[in-house]
Amino acid sequence: MKVPLLDLQAQFVSLRAPLLSAIERVMDAQHFILGAEVQALEKEIARYSRTRHAIGCASGSDAVLLALQSIGIGPGQEVITTPYSFFATAAAITRLGAHPVFVDIDPGTYNMKETDVPDVVTERTGALMPVHLFGQSADMSVLKQIAGQASIPIVEDAAQAIGAEDRGQRAGSTGTIGCFSFYPSKNLGGAGDGGMLVTNDSEHAERLRMLRVHGEERKYHHRMIGINSRLDAIQAAVLRVKLPYLDEWSEARRKNAAQYDQLFTDAGLTEEVGLPFVRSGVRHIFNQYVIRAGKRRDALRDHLKHKGVGTEIYYPVPLHLQECFAYLGYRKGDFPETERAARETLALPVYPELTLEQQTYVVDTIRKFYA
Ligand SMILES: *Cc1c(COP(=O)(O)O)cnc(C)c1O
Repeated sequence: MKVPLLDLQAQFVSLRAPLLSAIERVMDAQHFILGAEVQALEKEIARYSRTRHAIGCASGSDAVLLALQSIGIGPGQEVITTPYSFFATAAAITRLGAHPVFVDIDPGTYNMKETDVPDVVTERTGALMPVHLFGQSADMSVLKQIAGQASIPIVEDAAQAIGAEDRGQRAGSTGTIGCFSFYPSKNLGGAGDGGMLVTNDSEHAERLRMLRVHGEERKYHHRMIGINSRLDAIQAAVLRVKLPYLDEWSEARRKNAAQYDQLFTDAGLTEEVGLPFVRSGVRHIFNQYVIRAGKRRDALRDHLKHKGVGTEIYYPVPLHLQECFAYLGYRKGDFPETERAARETLALPVYPELTLEQQTYVVDTIRKFYA
């Protein structure tokens, strides 16, 4: 049996006609950059995230960069974040000339260990940037309290967590600015790159709208130096077709995650396989279902590949050990839980259309490996 890590075809066949007609609508209009489609999507995402403003941009990576720029992050400043994330999180900080200051992760949630944050706050701290990894929100009430006491803004890297909730609050809506990605493998994926910023702050919203068009206030008059990071109308039109299904898809991922939990438990594998930990009061949207496979992780991955099961390692090299960040002076051993997670974790297929039969096959294949 073949079980890919992600099957985008399965989603496409269910929405083929409306997606093609949305693309046709944009082609007929020949209006490709920002415009009515993007404005409509911005309104819909703002409503979905329960924020006052949403601003489309070219990618999740740009969203993080633009958010930090709007906050005013620059040389000499520090941004506190996690070393266990996609590269873009730390790259945005360094591209603005600031320093990422990492905090080790909680081994259960894989999110930045919130209670360690106060230890690294200094007078140079310009922002706090939690990442809601794999679709589970970091503990925003703890982080908000810490950030509030130190008067530091929070930028939420919610690229993997659109629709996730922490005690009823939507990911991206509780910090100063929230960042989403529409990369095709995210829960809400476009037909290419795309991103969105959300905020309740009108000044940030206005500034972000300028920053994404080279800091232009009106045509050819530049108030600040921004970048070219606009959302395409075709992407907006595609995403508008998909957004109404997002909750249904995330619920299907949650159901698949619960089924895996049950199957691993029934197979008596909970010693060998560490199951995802979900904090109480959280709506985890399972952008990834990540197990801990211990020391034999790489051998298990090979075995699964041999048997037709797609997996991925998020992430094999922690950010503090990336070659390009050597100048930051971090060393192996600085963040033991992050380094252990990088050695032990494995993401299994959890996409919405996955069948119980496929999941049973995945768990059975893992059982045979450990037998
Ligand atoms: C995907 C992702 C990004 C970047 O999004 P792109 O749209 O691929 O640029 C940033 N941060 C995290 C945590 C991500 O998962």
